[in-house]
Amino acid sequence: MLPISHINGPGAIPSGPFSFFFPDNVPTMNVLVLNAGSSSLKFQLIDTDLDMIAGNRDRRLARGVIERIGSQALISFENAAGNIVRTAQPIRDHRGAIDAALRWLVSDEAGIEGVSSLSAIHAVGHRVVHGGEKFTNSTLITPEVIKGIEECIALAPLHNPDNLRGIRAATEIFGPGIPQAVVFDTAFHQSMPEASYLYALPYQLYRRYKLRRYGFHGTSHRYIAYRYRTILGIPKSDVNVITIHLGNGCSATAVKGGRSLDTSMGLTPLEGLVMGTRSGDIDPAIIEYLMAMEGFGIEQVDALLNKQSGLLGISGLTNDMRELLAEEREHGDRRARLAIEIFVQRIKKYIGAYLAEMNGTDAIIFAGGIGENSAEIRSRICRDMGWCGLRLDEERNAKLVAGAEGEITADGSTLRAYVIPTDEELLIARDTVRLVERAELPR
Ligand code: AMP
Repeated sequence: MLPISHINGPGAIPSGPFSFFFPDNVPTMNVLVLNAGSSSLKFQLIDTDLDMIAGNRDRRLARGVIERIGSQALISFENAAGNIVRTAQPIRDHRGAIDAALRWLVSDEAGIEGVSSLSAIHAVGHRVVHGGEKFTNSTLITPEVIKGIEECIALAPLHNPDNLRGIRAATEIFGPGIPQAVVFDTAFHQSMPEASYLYALPYQLYRRYKLRRYGFHGTSHRYIAYRYRTILGIPKSDVNVITIHLGNGCSATAVKGGRSLDTSMGLTPLEGLVMGTRSGDIDPAIIEYLMAMEGFGIEQVDALLNKQSGLLGISGLTNDMRELLAEEREHGDRRARLAIEIFVQRIKKYIGAYLAEMNGTDAIIFAGGIGENSAEIRSRICRDMGWCGLRLDEERNAKLVAGAEGEITADGSTLRAYVIPTDEELLIARDTVRLVERAELPR
């Protein structure tokens, strides 16, 4: 098979002239995609349409990050030409952050063709972490939807309140005239069967509290699965793959018939793979043991598992895979090597489990900061996998870094492996357009 890197290679932000209507009169919209964190706001302005299949009409007009909201905020804005503006200014809250982003977006400095006032922003799409069992798909924002997101706060106390702050701030600024949509990190995994999502705990805990596995990174796994079927030109029902998102957070999903069958994250994003600072799977008895031996309170245990574990915890050095690889290579650091080994082994374990659970699969797909950039880690994961028909082509693998897309297995490999750079913001923008246009959402 041809490498697929030519289809959507690096630097794929097209920079053609602005047009509100494409020649065949497919309407396009400028969607402001917002991702509000506790003291941060990430945004992108994306010009997209309803055409999911051609999929190459999207234009990323600008993006930015505002950090340390609530004090002297650090701002980084970038337009499609790659011009970056970095400044610092006091920003009090998320409303102030969105204000700052909008002022720049419509400015001469940003220089975005056709975007000189707020009226050039046609819709807003928000990333929301937890949609519980209530939200199985993206949806337009209504008072009931806000209430539903509030009801999920108990399930994601660290994330949903921040996401809501972003929604409220955008509503204050844009008013009712601009439609807004929400895309949930959990929604893609709502297709999991009971056998995948239930813990082996007393069933009444599920009934009482909806205590179950939800899974996260759903927008990323869904995008990767969608992109795979677009590249191969196959229907969704034929998508049988294991998607592996390896960034600061890491998760793997078994996608069968185009739907999430099982995923490695659980009630929270702590379960599953080893991550930058999160432990992933552990024996739950460790919590009680730590409380007894170290005299920890529950907050300290929580911080230990979420912020001091994973690659950082094992290596004692860093949560950054690039630095760990450099330490191992340049200084032969034993604990850096160990951290990488445990990281890789856990991924192999999940691949094996999903291969068994799915009765075999067609491909393994890597995405995320590590999955997209580190040929070395991909190579270690795929080593000695001939038993299940996976044979890596090291040369192809080494070439696919920095946003390149393509196959990394050798011709004749019966289990294929690909790198597909994820694009959660694009999926949020497209869902938003579909909802605004009242078109059917893909499931
Ligand atoms: P993300 O959360 O998707 O932005 O991914 C962040 C992770 O990607 C960090 O652990 C980075 O160290 C890692 N990463 C980015 N580039 C590389 C690279 N070239 N080699 C190894 N890891 C990388």
